[in-house]
Amino acid sequence: MKAECVACGAEMSVDQRPMRYQCACGGLLRIVHDFRHVDAERLKRVFDERRGMRHCLHASGVWRYKELIAPELPDREAVTRNEGNTGLYEPDAVREFAGGIRRLHLKAQSENPSGSFKDNGMAAAVSHGRWLGYDSFACTSTGNTSSSLSMYAAVMGMQSIALVPSSEVSPNKVLQTVGYGAQVLAFDGTYDDGIRWLQAQAEEQGYYVCNSVNPLRIEGQKSLIYELAQDLAWQLPDWIVLPGGALSNASALGQGLSDLYTIGFIDKLPRVAVVQAEGASPFHRMAAGASKRLVPEPKPSTRASALNIGNPPSWLKALRMLELTNGVTVAVSDAEIMEAKACIDRSGVGCEPASAAAVAGLRKLVREGVVARDETAACILTGSMLKDTDALREFHLEGKWNAPELRNPPRLIRL
Ligand SMILES: *Cc1c(COP(=O)(O)O)cnc(C)c1O
Ligand SMILES: [Zn+2]
Repeated sequence: MKAECVACGAEMSVDQRPMRYQCACGGLLRIVHDFRHVDAERLKRVFDERRGMRHCLHASGVWRYKELIAPELPDREAVTRNEGNTGLYEPDAVREFAGGIRRLHLKAQSENPSGSFKDNGMAAAVSHGRWLGYDSFACTSTGNTSSSLSMYAAVMGMQSIALVPSSEVSPNKVLQTVGYGAQVLAFDGTYDDGIRWLQAQAEEQGYYVCNSVNPLRIEGQKSLIYELAQDLAWQLPDWIVLPGGALSNASALGQGLSDLYTIGFIDKLPRVAVVQAEGASPFHRMAAGASKRLVPEPKPSTRASALNIGNPPSWLKALRMLELTNGVTVAVSDAEIMEAKACIDRSGVGCEPASAAAVAGLRKLVREGVVARDETAACILTGSMLKDTDALREFHLEGKWNAPELRNPPRLIRL
């Protein structure tokens, strides 16, 4: 597979051990495909045929698009847990909450096998690592990446190591990671500290790194927008709205949209809105300011633990995505996030706090007139409601987030 540095354009291969995640200049790599001979109409028919398949590689919502993700990977090396194939919902209550725009879809990436969108990217990354001959896989994580990696490592019968901050992460996610069998290494520090440590250790320890600095993660995560486009008969809404933490999902969205447009699957690019939590919003500050360099947030802090990242590694890829799609950024408070979450939960779809940032952000953009009421949007719900049960307790039982009309505590009765 061929890769290119997003900062300086240098080309290199990612077919050898040790795996490379960065260029000599420090820039991240992206996989480059040659799509010149792709016949869009033929491929659409192939993807539609695979849509109804079960119990085979192409039934996966990632590997259904293998030709656009990792055509060189031998089919027998592709690892799957039937990821993707997630639901698309249009609850009226959430549409009203978000300002009553014409049409709102929720893409529930939360329905992935480990409960978050990380599975789409992880399926591609672990497959590539195994193909290169690695037998030990590692990541730093606020809990969802580690759950996903731990699950796939178990499926492959291989070892996984997960560095997880010892505070400000959801116990549900850490326990899920433990349950699948990863060796969890808890540390005092932030996600950003863990990333730095792991990058320095990986080569010596022989780890295949499964963080989003790994370009294969981005390739797998592209399938999100392929699947959304296919679900909507290749007519994307005016806006795609998603939360941004490490910015891998935003980067993958940019790559996927660029593919769809280049190949001719779509003839118009949607605009993308990246929503950050106020306490961890270095990308939003950069996009709203004059400088085109990210200034890290040394002490990130938000209740949406999956967004608690001060130095997002993929910021340059995400910036390119904003440029490509005429995109915007916005920041929302924890209270706004928790209120949006309660509304999404109550609609029957449900999600974890970080995911709800997308809907809270859309609501703000409608209020500000950036998104018009006669436009359409899709919000990406990144993680499941059961990923953070403490958030449910705080909101409904403890009344912490001050949105009394949405509170629903159990009533104690006497039998
Ligand atoms: C990882 C994650 C995010 C943030 O995605 P990035 O790619 O890091 O920007 C948002 N929500 C959930 C539930 C996540 O697990
Ligand atoms: Zn470079």
